[in-house]
Amino acid sequence: MTIPRDFRLVDGTVIDHLPVGTAARALELLRLPREGPVTIGMNVPSSRHDKKDIIRVEGMVLEKRELDRLALLGEHVTVSIVQAGKVVDKIRLEVPKRLRGILTCTNPTCVTNNEPVQTVFERLGRYPFRFRCTYCERVLTL
Ligand SMILES: [Zn+2]
Repeated sequence: MTIPRDFRLVDGTVIDHLPVGTAARALELLRLPREGPVTIGMNVPSSRHDKKDIIRVEGMVLEKRELDRLALLGEHVTVSIVQAGKVVDKIRLEVPKRLRGILTCTNPTCVTNNEPVQTVFERLGRYPFRFRCTYCERVLTL
């Protein structure tokens, strides 16, 4: 993988191929900045797709739960782990068929909003993602 020159970092995480316009949402999901410096590129030319957003976070590795949330932003999002200036791991994020405890149901009378029950949503098709609540059938469009 090639990281554009201005996005090179020594240790940290690169979140790449975010759909244009989703960088702000990604920062919000990850509650950034929280430790090291964060660099954000918006509307960056991409070889694989027309344009993309990209976020570089220094000195931080994301947790599984955070990756699951990031995956919801687009279908080509990748996360690269950089150590000593080299990409040591590159993860292509995938949205699972079932999401547990990640989304909140928008139906106020849904059991998940009234009892201590973890939400379970089923993915309907591919991007743009839609999810159906397995308790009340309410469909969410992200
Ligand atoms: Zn529901």
